[in-house]
Amino acid sequence: PVFEEVNICKLLENVVLLMESQLHTKNITLQLQLPQEHCLTFGDISQLKQVFINLLKNAIEAVPFAGIISLAVSRQQDMLAVTVEDNGEGIAAAVVEKLGTPFFTTKETGSGLGLSVCYRIIQNHGGTIKVFSEQGKTTFTVFLPAAVEDE
Ligand code: ADP
Ligand code: MG
Repeated sequence: PVFEEVNICKLLENVVLLMESQLHTKNITLQLQLPQEHCLTFGDISQLKQVFINLLKNAIEAVPFAGIISLAVSRQQDMLAVTVEDNGEGIAAAVVEKLGTPFFTTKETGSGLGLSVCYRIIQNHGGTIKVFSEQGKTTFTVFLPAAVEDE
């Protein structure tokens, strides 16, 4: 991995462009909240892209036709929080516990590798991933250390 300063908001804009046809096919509304500043972290750009491609792909697969996905970045103390939220069915509590286990999937043709890759990459970046789900809503929040910025 090549670690460098990364603007996570710019990176997410690029990831959204990559997923545009899949979003369009399912007529998904994407709500973006990407601030203009305080988006800097330190990391490997292609690995971080992979994380958000995997999370967005899961959200796209989870929502119904014309579903809603929101993608937001906020600063929380010394961390950046990136949330990917969808209005799919949600994840049962018993399933939440298994998330990130390699090859765990509930999909007929799923690999069950997407989240395990996400967890490993974010751990290697000094971050964490938190999952919250209830009926009709799933939120994955990726915490990454915020880069120290000049005032
Ligand atoms: P795959 O997508 O190939 O199944 P992942 O590791 O990406 O593998 O996801 C593992 C499992 O986690 C999925 O099969 C699904 O059960 C659950 N999951 C992940 N993201 C979501 C989501 N946004 N909504 C509902 N379930 C999800
Ligand atoms: Mg997946």
